[in-house]
Amino acid sequence: MASELDQEVARRRTFAIISHPDAGKTTLTEKLLLYGGAIHLAGSVKARRASRHATSDWMELEKERGISVTSSVLQFPYRGHAVNLLDTPGHQDFSEDTYRTLAAADSAVMLIDAAKGVEPQTKKLFKVCRMRGIPIFTFVNKLDRWGRAPLELMDELEQVLGIRAYPMNWPIGMGPEFRGVYDRQSKVVHVFAAEGRHGESEVAERSVHIDSPDILTVLNERELATLKEEIELLDIGGDEFTREKVEQGQLTPMFFGSAMTNFGVRPFLDHFLELAPAPTSRLTKDGPREPTHPKFAGFVFKIQANMDPSHRDRIAFMRVVSGRYTKGMSAFHSRLGKEVRLAKPSQFLAAERTAIEDAWPGDVIGLFDPGMFRIGDTLCEGEDLLFDSVPRFSPEYFAVVRSKDPLRRKQMEKGLEQLSEEGTVQIFQQLGMGMKDPIVGVVGALQFEVLQYRVEHEYGARIMLDRLPFSHARWVVGPDFDPKKFDWEGNRQTVQDRDGLPLVLFRDDWALQHAEEKHPELKFLSAAPLL
Ligand code: GDP
Repeated sequence: MASELDQEVARRRTFAIISHPDAGKTTLTEKLLLYGGAIHLAGSVKARRASRHATSDWMELEKERGISVTSSVLQFPYRGHAVNLLDTPGHQDFSEDTYRTLAAADSAVMLIDAAKGVEPQTKKLFKVCRMRGIPIFTFVNKLDRWGRAPLELMDELEQVLGIRAYPMNWPIGMGPEFRGVYDRQSKVVHVFAAEGRHGESEVAERSVHIDSPDILTVLNERELATLKEEIELLDIGGDEFTREKVEQGQLTPMFFGSAMTNFGVRPFLDHFLELAPAPTSRLTKDGPREPTHPKFAGFVFKIQANMDPSHRDRIAFMRVVSGRYTKGMSAFHSRLGKEVRLAKPSQFLAAERTAIEDAWPGDVIGLFDPGMFRIGDTLCEGEDLLFDSVPRFSPEYFAVVRSKDPLRRKQMEKGLEQLSEEGTVQIFQQLGMGMKDPIVGVVGALQFEVLQYRVEHEYGARIMLDRLPFSHARWVVGPDFDPKKFDWEGNRQTVQDRDGLPLVLFRDDWALQHAEEKHPELKFLSAAPLL
């Protein structure tokens, strides 16, 4: 008989949704919660949307730090599964956060707007999923509006992202004529009821086998003929479906629907949970750690500070990799080299934070953090273990930080250090003699404003940021790397990261390419090498 641990692992699914802003991630998240029974009437997640894109409003939101705004690790049950949805803010300037969240996910759902196809942010996040080699599922959204032809979208996935798509279902009609989806595996047509098109509650659905004589009671002859024609095309010209190809990230199962009207949400959820992997192993220095390993181990992938400004508390989000976490337990903190108590754990059920008793592989718990955690830290029961699961990504915007008030330089440094531990910014030191101002690198330019605002409001130090003309950072490794040779040349500069690893900042693609061609003996890495 399978142990409790085996059973808990087998029924878990931990995933994230990746998309370009406005593709409908918030709406889909809400609908998944609705179908999971975690909320009763959709619309509650919506309220926060209105002011999301304006910087100043966002600052207000951040001050409040409701968990629905940024952290959103949502757990809900669905047909015997325990589903962990790692939600990530859609705004492009949060993307580093999103990148890290993907380290904690075992699969990803790529959400695409049927009218817009693959957009820039989708592309970036897709690349990160590819790098991690996790299975990617595609949900084409907004079929209730006129969009691109499904075949054209399949083609675009292949041309732009280089991944073949296997439609698990196929839409019947589009726009106002979107009637439902055809399930290729079971050959069943699911037709949705058009009333209540705003999808506050689960949509009524009729399911009829395509070969049944009843099919003409749900589709008209023209609809049926078109569907049969398209299915034949897919069957002849399309890929064969294999689980292995999905697991290796070579084939993306594709679904069609409309999150707003709920059309296609249940068919998607059913197939997705069946196909998506249960919690997978994570690499350590000594090989993979399997989820069913009896001893508890996990890693921190996200830190959120000052959720309550009056206490200056931090929450470290940890993904459980193996074993069972029980309330109040202690674990070995590898970087600090000591045993620590994992205090005040909480988990995030729908929109509330609740205290938890225990957690299993694939779950994410929020630990109260008095300042002892960093992104990437490993915690393990009675053992010294080190995961290398959370990469640091190359920032794209850089600035020198200067203190406006020399007497408050200490506060500034403290603020920078904390924000870098939280992963909001990366800090680099300039090489050479004398005291030099630090350089910060960020993935999205809005993070500069966040940095300035938070260092001033949370640490009481006013800073100036002088933008630098670089757009790429590369960690350089190689036997004869001489940082001096790369130092300030107008279009590049050498710096060091917080672990003392050398990086070169480049002005543009051309400068980077030039260096790569000139130094074939060196490797220029866009993510930090493992220590
Ligand atoms: P996010 O930025 O990806 O979180 O996107 P939202 O969920 O906030 O949706 C962006 C906009 O698209 C909102 O106005 C939604 O009401 C709308 N939307 C989302 N899903 C659908 C859909 O299936 N059909 C239509 N017509 N609109 C949708």
